[in-house]
Amino acid sequence: MTPEKTQQLFDAFPYLYRGRVKPIEESLMSFGFECDSGWFDLICMLSQKIEDVARAAGFEPQSDEWPEAIQVKQKCGSLRFYLKNSPLAISDEVAALKREAEECSAKTCEVCGNPGTLVEVRRVKTLCEDHTKELIQS
Ligand SMILES: [Zn+2]
Repeated sequence: MTPEKTQQLFDAFPYLYRGRVKPIEESLMSFGFECDSGWFDLICMLSQKIEDVARAAGFEPQSDEWPEAIQVKQKCGSLRFYLKNSPLAISDEVAALKREAEECSAKTCEVCGNPGTLVEVRRVKTLCEDHTKELIQS
């Protein structure tokens, strides 16, 4: 993820991503989003939906109960979004949102956000046709 896009997400969801200034023993968010920028919209939507659930449950953004992302990364070609353990983080509703985003990421080019498929070029990634060709030729 580019520094600009990373900052946009941090600015839009400062409490969800409050781990960005924490030591790595507590949160890996200081590494930013460990995937390419094509998933920016997906991560933005997921962040919004998780905050909506928290708001609907009556939590305050500045409170300890507010959901906190501790790592966001690509694994085996799809998005993995890890929240600090809490009753909300392990609720069926949030689990379903995370699963939905993970499934969507497996159909979205990680580089540009266009429709993509899982490909294996040295490692597994979700890419559109153009970016698959580019990776093969690199
Ligand atoms: Zn692409």
